[in-house]
Amino acid sequence: MAQEEGRTGAQHNALSHTIGAGWRELATFLTHTARPEPTAEGRFVNYGVERGSTVLFPTIADLNNDGDKAHNHQLVYGAMGNPIQHELEKLLAELEGGTHTQVVGSGLAACTVPLLAFLNAGDHLLLPDSVYGPTRRFARRFLTRFGVETTFYPPMADEQTLQGLVTSKTAIIFAESPGSHTFEVQDIPMIARVAHEHGARLLLDNTWGIGAFKPFEHGVDVSIQALTKYPSGHSDVIIGAVTVAKEEDWLPLRHAAIEMGECASSDDCWLTLRGLRTMALRLERQAVSALEVAHWFKNRPEVVRVRHPAFPECPGHEFWKRDFTGASGLFGVELRSDITVEAMQRMMDRLTLFGIGASWGGYESLILPTTGGVTRNDTGGLPEGAAFRIHIGLENVADLTRDLEQAFHHLTV
Ligand SMILES: *Cc1c(COP(=O)(O)O)cnc(C)c1O
Repeated sequence: MAQEEGRTGAQHNALSHTIGAGWRELATFLTHTARPEPTAEGRFVNYGVERGSTVLFPTIADLNNDGDKAHNHQLVYGAMGNPIQHELEKLLAELEGGTHTQVVGSGLAACTVPLLAFLNAGDHLLLPDSVYGPTRRFARRFLTRFGVETTFYPPMADEQTLQGLVTSKTAIIFAESPGSHTFEVQDIPMIARVAHEHGARLLLDNTWGIGAFKPFEHGVDVSIQALTKYPSGHSDVIIGAVTVAKEEDWLPLRHAAIEMGECASSDDCWLTLRGLRTMALRLERQAVSALEVAHWFKNRPEVVRVRHPAFPECPGHEFWKRDFTGASGLFGVELRSDITVEAMQRMMDRLTLFGIGASWGGYESLILPTTGGVTRNDTGGLPEGAAFRIHIGLENVADLTRDLEQAFHHLTV
């Protein structure tokens, strides 16, 4: 028994080390990229916030070049970008491993803008059944009105099943890995193969995998980031980004964003760039802390399954092991079937260090019930009993597990 525990402990330490290593490799890049060059007159370490709508040019000829400028991350008009936004875009393109990034007003806009950029009336869209709820709602309500038909596919569908769902009209296969709330890690290279065989694009919501999953090395065409999460990192900004790797994908995306008036404020871009400076450090800590808390849950008799991609019982764990260099601080927990949703809610109300609320990726711990909060009516796959999603912040792990320990007493009384 003691030996067994020892082995588990060693494996746990090795996993913590691996998860931390991926983030350490990013730290220099995030510290030194998107900073102004020093000048003889001297200048501050960071870019400043520049507010503006009108952009002035010395001559009409300079003004008339605006088309090319707009496509090349240069200044044209405030709604088409600002100086710090363009710096942020260059950093994100490099971080994701693509060529161009478009910053947009929210993570949700980062999902909807590329869908509108690459879909036409009459097209067919494949969305994973584990997709972020508002993306599901956008397809169901909005895209339907414009003649786009959506089929929801099981996130763990094998190649044959996925092939069977593709039609001659399929223009986009969308993926989100791991899935919102249920954490299925998807076989992205296989999905890319199926998409490309049929002339469709693969769009990936890579929010959870930021820095830990290189989308374009695995066949993704368009990568989506809710920068609201770890990049800004302090729960005080709503912002998103879309990155492409192929030149021919850039103009349709850029045009869609401009034509819809998508923009982000200079202040929000500045806050996001500031957040990115410490993202590797925060994620290194939060990923390791989350793993420790996940192990705490695993040893609790009230818990039947921990949906953390680094755990073998998480659907798609083998793809996480194959394709990711790290993990984030967000995972799911399923409780024993005899524990009611009401008991789980009672337990959550007793927590003092975990906020109850939407979003994640900030410096603070959060908890949210999965049951009832997610609609999945096509392929199933939701936990049957009471379940919740948990985000581990920068707090001391011992304080977090102490808080969970006292609240867990209320699960069974
Ligand atoms: C939060 C989130 C979004 C949306 O981001 P917002 O900035 O809140 O609009 C999109 N996708 C995923 C996976 C998310 O977690």
